[in-house]
Amino acid sequence: MLISVESPRTVRLALLPPLALYVHIPWCVRKCPYCDFNSHEQKGPLEEKRYLEALMRDLEQLLPQVWGRRLSSVFIGGGTPSLFSPESIDALLSGIRARLTLEPGAEVTLEANPGTVEAARFRGFREAGVNRISVGVQSFDDRMLAALGRIHSAAEARAAVDAALQAVGNVNLDLMYGLPGQDISMVVSDLKEALRCGAPHVSAYQLTIEPNTVFFSKPPPLPEHDLCADMQAVVESMLLENGFEHYETSAFARPGRRCRHNLNYWEFGDYLGIGAGAHGKISFPDRVTRHERAKQPAEYLKGGATVENREIPVGELPFEFMLNALRLVEGFPATLFEERTGLSLFILKKELERAESDGLLERDWQRIRPSARGRLFLNELLEQFLPTR
Ligand code: SF4
Repeated sequence: MLISVESPRTVRLALLPPLALYVHIPWCVRKCPYCDFNSHEQKGPLEEKRYLEALMRDLEQLLPQVWGRRLSSVFIGGGTPSLFSPESIDALLSGIRARLTLEPGAEVTLEANPGTVEAARFRGFREAGVNRISVGVQSFDDRMLAALGRIHSAAEARAAVDAALQAVGNVNLDLMYGLPGQDISMVVSDLKEALRCGAPHVSAYQLTIEPNTVFFSKPPPLPEHDLCADMQAVVESMLLENGFEHYETSAFARPGRRCRHNLNYWEFGDYLGIGAGAHGKISFPDRVTRHERAKQPAEYLKGGATVENREIPVGELPFEFMLNALRLVEGFPATLFEERTGLSLFILKKELERAESDGLLERDWQRIRPSARGRLFLNELLEQFLPTR
């Protein structure tokens, strides 16, 4: 066994997990009415240079906690990182490389929104070191895009995906379903268009109404629950029939094209989070910690980076692990729990047995995975692992 539990309050990790880096760029052209991310409407010129300086200060603060460790992936998310110029992305990636070593072939993703990019910009991102682009398409139907308050048209979405494919080949396309006024045939059309584009990765999310959004105060009429479930089934079956693997609740990839950065989250790996509102997780031989940054860009720019730095209580580690790993359709190797939490899987004996007898979980000697029913009722499955106080 790799890890020993000395007492319920102490853990010992024999191996540290892979380390990734998330960089948050918090601005967008306009705030979408359904969005609860830490994104802020861009007012006036973007302070790219100042923000890059703040990011580097932020990264430097974290370095003593990860001396000697290499980065397996970088993800530049937002907000709309494609609002930043290729020169700024180049400066950002150079700054990261000057401070941390990237593993050979590390995945470097940048999120882009149609309407903010053209082919030359994508080529510039590639030259800066970006080798994967995630395009926020959401729909190829102009009526749906208008209902979502997106700034782009279907034609711009197609052009952005084509340009991203030409620039880097490794492209994710974000789609949403369960949209106001949407029916099954419209979901099928979106999927056909996604398949025609040739992107090797699709992330498909159901629209949900979140607090602190415009849609929360003025909810649009959404398709009924059963219709949304049918839409989800159509998404899964069409992508599977066309050679995609369904590997996480919302993620589908052609073989060899899974997102390594996101897999690291779901496998409870470590990640540094820099930028406004970013958060991260760092493991040490005897503890696992989380850090979080100030949400407001103005505060972040002033240098008020850290708002939280805390050790995850040992009693919360099992739930935190399951919250991530049970999103994986194929589940996780039984040994991974001990590797990542420093706790014996034996402490979850009762919970695992109960989830199994409720038909929410399947396991053999090697793997633990959510059942088809467990994937459908993921919250019910996760509740089994909530910490008891
Ligand atoms: S573009 Fe994305 S991050 Fe920006 S407001 Fe819209 S949904 Fe949120």
